[in-house]
Amino acid sequence: LGRTIVNPLRYLPFSTAAFSTSQTNTIRATLFPGDGIGPEIAESVKQVFNAAKVPIEWEEHYVSSSVDPRTNSFLTWESLESVRRNGVGLKGPMATPIGKGHRSLNLTLRKELGLYANVRPCFSLPGYKTRYDDVDLVTIRENTEGEYSGLEHQVVRGVVESLKIITRHASLRVAEYAFHYAQANGRKRVSAIHKANIMRKTDGLFLTCCREVAEKYPDITYEEVIIDNCCMMLVKNPALFDVLVMPNLYGDIISDLCAGLIGGLGLTPSCNIGEAGIALAEAVHGSAPDIAGKNLANPTALLLSSVAMLRHLKLDDKANRIHDAILKTIAEGKHRTVDLGGKSTTTEFTNEVCDNL
Ligand code: NAD
Repeated sequence: LGRTIVNPLRYLPFSTAAFSTSQTNTIRATLFPGDGIGPEIAESVKQVFNAAKVPIEWEEHYVSSSVDPRTNSFLTWESLESVRRNGVGLKGPMATPIGKGHRSLNLTLRKELGLYANVRPCFSLPGYKTRYDDVDLVTIRENTEGEYSGLEHQVVRGVVESLKIITRHASLRVAEYAFHYAQANGRKRVSAIHKANIMRKTDGLFLTCCREVAEKYPDITYEEVIIDNCCMMLVKNPALFDVLVMPNLYGDIISDLCAGLIGGLGLTPSCNIGEAGIALAEAVHGSAPDIAGKNLANPTALLLSSVAMLRHLKLDDKANRIHDAILKTIAEGKHRTVDLGGKSTTTEFTNEVCDNL
């Protein structure tokens, strides 16, 4: 596409929240270490931030062992208040208990904090060889509705129904964010990903909204790609894509596919953008129960998410230093984690990133 990307980990809310600072002039941010590998990779971030002398004071909140009736989930009201007050945070993965009658932790966060867009950049890491060396795209996932509305029920025995909700409000909001993001980051093209040939009403409305917003951004090329074709094109030539915007479930799936293009889920960061200027960064991956507690997790995805958080806070010097140290560590190849074909533990990789700062 011939573009120059200045800053692939930059996220822009529409309004910048006033960040709270402590008496020592450090910035307060909320940290959810989360479940599974979450505490191990959150520890990496804390270690790297300490080594880089990042002026952040963490307010740590753990998933509670009982349901808080005020949130109807295992997330306490106080932990949500912490993000609201600070306007910025970093979240480890949270496991989703299946069929327990209370709200999922991730859905609670998205709904309560109005996190309407999930921005997932995916770029080839220099020196780490995959089938592609030119991946540089950003998936923007609608984060509040679609198949994630939680409206499921049994119609009669043997027949269940799940409702996909698409609203004009949420579709315009995420489309506006995608074009705004593209323009602010020197990106040239926005592709709306859909299945409107089958889901005529729901994805049809999503596309109508994207088209409306596209008219306001004549400098950005707008295209519509059917999701199955999008998967084929991504695998064949990911350089065809720049910014992709799509309904919730498609974003969940496509961003994992994109992670596979560059080396896997251990590498891809994201940031949730909220209406009140809130930014809650998190890795794309989940709690990885198969490797939890074994010191095997790759902390890169959460570290890069923390870099995005620093950029959001305009701490660009610190962000650049940490970003470069992570990429240098991976490129050198002496200390890669097992998912990237190496032998290093989470701790050894983290120590190397600190040494490369
Ligand atoms: P997962 O992303 O946790 O794991 C998929 C595979 O990728 C596993 O083999 C895992 O070992 C590997 N992997 C993931 N992150 C890695 C890392 N940092 N380093 C090395 N390998 C890594 O997906 P899953 O197993 O389907 O989900 C586990 C739990 O996480 C479920 O409860 C799910 O609901 C939850 N989840 C949470 C989030 C979130 O908090 N945002 C996102 C996705 C899944």
